[in-house]
Amino acid sequence: MNTTDKLLRKPDWLKVRFKGGPDYARIERLHRAHGLHSVCRSAACPNQGECWSRGTATFMILGDCCTRDCAFCNVSHGTPKTVDEGEPRKVAEAIAELQLRHAVVTSVTRDDLADGGAALFVDLIRAVRRAAPDCRVEVLIPDLGGDRRALEKILEAGPDILGHNLETVPRLYARVRSQAVYQRSLDVLRNSRKMKPDIPTKSGLMVGMGETRSEIANAMKDLVDAGCRLLTLGQYLQPTRKHFPVQRYVAPEEFADMREEGLEIGFIHVEAGPLVRSSYHAEEQFKEVIHAEGK
Ligand code: SF4
Repeated sequence: MNTTDKLLRKPDWLKVRFKGGPDYARIERLHRAHGLHSVCRSAACPNQGECWSRGTATFMILGDCCTRDCAFCNVSHGTPKTVDEGEPRKVAEAIAELQLRHAVVTSVTRDDLADGGAALFVDLIRAVRRAAPDCRVEVLIPDLGGDRRALEKILEAGPDILGHNLETVPRLYARVRSQAVYQRSLDVLRNSRKMKPDIPTKSGLMVGMGETRSEIANAMKDLVDAGCRLLTLGQYLQPTRKHFPVQRYVAPEEFADMREEGLEIGFIHVEAGPLVRSSYHAEEQFKEVIHAEGK
């Protein structure tokens, strides 16, 4: 295990060529003009060039400062500013202006707020419905401290997909996601499915942090048992030298095997690959789940 700070050499399949273009520039301008936060940039996502140039972006609400401090995450942490009540409207206007058909909206974790920020997700979903009625809204939410009522409020606003990432296997939570609880994260997905069976749920796992293949298989099984039918599996990349070191680079063939395993145990769609992130090809995943669930 690579427990030292020694950096592993990046394999060739992870070397991404930056793709700019007019759509990229347009989204960049809009983020600046509306003072929006982009998770693509804060999380140092390797697909930023590709997604932005295809006209897809993931927005981040509730500010850009997280109350948690996960060892793999590049989002800044500390004491967040007060909530900007105008943020949902600004994001919705940007989505409308960009003419997105499928928007992904996530947030930092806000343990300082009584409802974990659920009210702002509700406002956001409503604002997008008004400003861009044809746009689907996928929300990738924090665990809301396990507050079922807060989760219910978000579901009642009617997102098209509710996502919550497990990120890693239970054994590694203490090291890389110390303020989260594996079971609580699973319960977000399980409860969501119970409360609103018509809203598909989605989750994501990173590999290369020291987990074993059987631990990944068990986590996938836990997700299926919780009613989750969409999964993203991607390589963990260390954002800076201060973050948790990569333990292993997983080859594309192994991702293909994990994808097959996932489909065999009950996922409708598994997006798996070294550069896959939560919202990668989100629109395609949505279409598949809707088709499979006969909606
Ligand atoms: S809770 Fe989410 S945004 Fe906050 S540090 Fe962890 S991964 Fe990053």
